[in-house]
Amino acid sequence: MDVLAQITESKPESASFLGLTIEDAGQLCVKSGASPIHARDLFRAVYKDNQLKPWERPGIPKKLASDLANGFQLTGLRIHSENQSRYDSSVKFLIELGDKSQVEMVLMPEAKRITLCVSSQVGCAQACIFCHTGRMGLTRNLSAAEIVGQVWLANHWISTHGDWLLKLGLPAHQRISNIVFMGMGEPLDNPEAVGKAISILIDPFGYNLAKRKISVSTAGHMDGLDRLLRLHPDVRLAISVHSAFDHERSKIMPINRRWPLKDLIAKLKDLPTHKENGLLLQYTLIAGVNDSTDHARELIRLVDGMNVKINLIPLNPVGPSRLSSPNVDRLEAFRDEIYRAGHRVMVRYSKGQDIGGACGQLVVSQKDA
Ligand code: SF4
Repeated sequence: MDVLAQITESKPESASFLGLTIEDAGQLCVKSGASPIHARDLFRAVYKDNQLKPWERPGIPKKLASDLANGFQLTGLRIHSENQSRYDSSVKFLIELGDKSQVEMVLMPEAKRITLCVSSQVGCAQACIFCHTGRMGLTRNLSAAEIVGQVWLANHWISTHGDWLLKLGLPAHQRISNIVFMGMGEPLDNPEAVGKAISILIDPFGYNLAKRKISVSTAGHMDGLDRLLRLHPDVRLAISVHSAFDHERSKIMPINRRWPLKDLIAKLKDLPTHKENGLLLQYTLIAGVNDSTDHARELIRLVDGMNVKINLIPLNPVGPSRLSSPNVDRLEAFRDEIYRAGHRVMVRYSKGQDIGGACGQLVVSQKDA
């Protein structure tokens, strides 16, 4: 077993250090008779230096080091397998959690940044018709430690794959710069863990990611939205729309029956972040389902007076299904209709399509899990 596997190996009796905020870590220091200031050193060791055993860092008092070594493991997660796209160098990872259940995450390199798409649940309860994860049903929520653990594992992978960075023309010190909660699961079905993970990821003594570089995608879970906004009122959101006609959206995304789109939009309009930065809307285009000119016009009516950016995503293939993506002419006609109405709009082709890592394609089979 390699050293990373040993350190990240799950010890069920141990808590994961990656689930601690800096305040939690400070309290642990005090409990061990040390100054809370050591929490900063521990955070630097874990997140800046990628150290596997932060308690072994010079300067950490002996009792604190031994308490942490005995009570904590680093992640409890491990990379089960990885699959790299031949076309865009994105990498899909199958991650094994402490209880042996599995999730997927996708690393997506671009010109000057690396985005990690993280999972927030094992499976998903929302059952959107175009999504492979939705067919799994929900097994359980991930903890904050399991969410941060994905980022830690991905950064560790990057640090040991200089050839991957070199091939992409990225500097050797480049690490994950952006995080999107668009992997497996509905993040707002698990808002406390997602909110805590964001607090850890933005900590100045840790990864120090800017909040605007973290996006939480939602199908429109309004209870969860309220709960996340209590923790992070300025969180950046990406709203999945997929049809502006209420009855059709309920068929595509059953969550719409509980929280109709119009109620969601009315709430989002009043958020300070909408007024300051605008709102990102995602619209998966499905041939013959939601791609007509009427659909484009209804979408324009829905966002009338709002500051929005609309990403159109051609449907990605998800195994046996009657659903398909519109042809290029239809995609462009839909886009142009929205553009002429004065909105920012672009067609986004998902990365990692050849490795099943694109939007809506993430899934762990029952056999694997
Ligand atoms: S699209 Fe998102 S919310 Fe819908 S089933 Fe898939 S993972 Fe769940």
